[in-house]
Amino acid sequence: MARQAVIRSVPGAASGQGTTERAFTGEYWDTKTQGTYRCAGCGEELFSSDTKFESESGWPSFFQPLDPSTIEEKEDKTFGMVRTEIKCAKCGGHLGHVFDDGPNPTGLRYCINSASLDLDEAEPSG
Ligand SMILES: [Zn+2]
Repeated sequence: MARQAVIRSVPGAASGQGTTERAFTGEYWDTKTQGTYRCAGCGEELFSSDTKFESESGWPSFFQPLDPSTIEEKEDKTFGMVRTEIKCAKCGGHLGHVFDDGPNPTGLRYCINSASLDLDEAEPSG
């Protein structure tokens, strides 16, 4: 039982990101292991480690999904601002939010809860 329980809605959280997971506490925020990140709810392949980058947000961040059709976007007006919530298109599970301040080539930042992901580690090749 090394992992701490995910704490929801932290009073006074300074980030304003409004994700359900505290920054820097998730399993994958600084993971550099190669592999495919799957939906924790249904196993759908969502992101590749090739598109993961260090955003300094404390959450796993990707600039591009494996296949845009696996991601469902929804306008989220909670916390007094308009953001784009992203969900798994297959099972509807909440993944995180997408922001438009990411790196090239997409300029997007998919900010995902570690708890929403399962890393399928790639076999070392060659
Ligand atoms: Zn899913």
